[in-house]
Amino acid sequence: MQAGLSDEHNIFRNAVRDLVEREVKPHVLDWERAGEVPRSLFETLGELGFLGVRLPVEHGGSGLDFWYTTILIQEFMRTGSVGVPVAIMAHAEFGTQLIAAAGSDELKAELLPAAIAGTKIAALGVSEPNAGSDVAAIRTRAVRDGADYVINGSKTFITNGTIGDFITTAVRTGGPGSGGVSLLVVPATTKGLARNRLKKIGTHASDTAELYFEDCRVPVRYLLGEENAGFGLIMQGFTAERLVISVIATMQMRMMWEAAREHGHDRQVFGRQLLDFQVWQHRLADAITTIEAAETLTFRAIGSFVRGEPSDQLASMAKLFATESVLDVARECGQMFGGMSHLEECLMARLYRDSLAMTIGAGSSEIMREIIARSVGLVPGMVK
Ligand SMILES: Cc1cc2nc3c(=O)[nH]c(=O)nc-3n(C[C@H](O)[C@H](O)[C@H](O)COP(=O)(O)OP(=O)(O)OC[C@H]3O[C@@H](n4cnc5c(N)ncnc54)[C@H](O)[C@@H]3O)c2cc1C
Repeated sequence: MQAGLSDEHNIFRNAVRDLVEREVKPHVLDWERAGEVPRSLFETLGELGFLGVRLPVEHGGSGLDFWYTTILIQEFMRTGSVGVPVAIMAHAEFGTQLIAAAGSDELKAELLPAAIAGTKIAALGVSEPNAGSDVAAIRTRAVRDGADYVINGSKTFITNGTIGDFITTAVRTGGPGSGGVSLLVVPATTKGLARNRLKKIGTHASDTAELYFEDCRVPVRYLLGEENAGFGLIMQGFTAERLVISVIATMQMRMMWEAAREHGHDRQVFGRQLLDFQVWQHRLADAITTIEAAETLTFRAIGSFVRGEPSDQLASMAKLFATESVLDVARECGQMFGGMSHLEECLMARLYRDSLAMTIGAGSSEIMREIIARSVGLVPGMVK
């Protein structure tokens, strides 16, 4: 699909595909029912070196490029469960990359080897009941007390929130606004931390939770970067997160389209194949055109990121287009399945309901439009 991938990328793809076929696909429906992926999946991925593809070599990672992450997502999407790659990415990309980027050497040596081995699971805790899109408005407070920070507040919608062993957490250490936000790693064993799994309408295999912090003590050495410098780090991390969601969305569309084409051949109505009707040929022609466009934009944004030129503008455009397109493709392809599109046992139905979170997580479509508008000088008073 992507141009310019090396033999090494293709060898990696084959290894991931083999694992997914043998050890993941057979269990996916059980994980969807359980509302989580098992710890053993992380351990298996860790043994094969799949969790540290972009993490530093000195801590056990492979220090590879984002195309490897892309391949990992694409192959895990082949399970038909969006929740599975979401859980893996919340760990390998969202929760741990910020530690690699801003943690002290001591903290990296403490946390990254276990994260890369899959023996400890990570999460990223930014969103709160009163602050999702507006990250600068978070209220969870961390107050310095001797060698510790004492944390009080709450988080919500945290992927891997219940199964996670440590949560890279946004806290308020200073005054109001973006200049008062820090990032602290909170071990799940911290006294005073309570967790509650949320029941979602989609992405069932990924565990999503509310977290409550009551006088939680965390050593000061768990701070990432400088105090009150967390907002910039979170924003920096968002570029890769948006690329992750864009890849998930493009693969969702591919799989929906392939399922619809197969169904269109198999299903007979009024004595004819569905795909005998031009209306369905044209709907699928529109859908594949949309998919190609979304992939082209997504791969362009990834190419820029891999070249060391991360672009908020391109990542936001890719996420906006890919995730809004998923809803269109889901509606068109889903319609072709008739009543089957409402049954949990039907792959199309599961992809359909999993598409709804894509325009929300890692920055909503409205926030993507804000970033794009600013980046092209549409906001009055801004210098282009
Ligand atoms: C499945 C799932 C997994 C998630 N995982 C994580 C996670 O691991 N960690 C984490 O920290 N968070 C996570 N989130 C939370 C996610 O990042 C937030 O839901 C998202 O940022 C939106 O915040 P909100 O829900 O508070 O909505 P709000 O911010 O309250 O927004 C409500 C609506 O208003 C719109 N809106 C907001 N601001 C503007 C504006 N300026 N102009 C116009 N419209 C606007 C939004 O687009 C949205 O449509 C997850 C969410 C989901 C659904």
